[in-house]
Amino acid sequence: MQFCPKCGSLLLPKEDNPKKVKCSCGYNPKQKKIFSISERVENSAKIEVVDKKLETLPTLSINCPKCGYKKAFYWLVQTRASDEAETQFFRCMKCSHQWRQY
Ligand SMILES: [Zn+2]
Ligand SMILES: [Zn+2]
Repeated sequence: MQFCPKCGSLLLPKEDNPKKVKCSCGYNPKQKKIFSISERVENSAKIEVVDKKLETLPTLSINCPKCGYKKAFYWLVQTRASDEAETQFFRCMKCSHQWRQY
């Protein structure tokens, strides 16, 4: 049995998690370590997603105006107002030259 260091009454198990205890006075034992570990895992997962972004771009057969290579990555960008046409961007897989098409 555990007693509250704040008011001295018996600590009761939580309804949603019987392994944790709380007191009727509002005292709640803190568990800082567990929180910091879960935050770090979340952050590293986000970084991984950003790194993979460029590799997952679709490619198509188009002549690079700079080096003449026949394959390029492409993606669409919406410019300002939503009723305007999308701009198509290309990036040469060989020399990394970028150009656009309206
Ligand atoms: Zn208490
Ligand atoms: Zn090129």
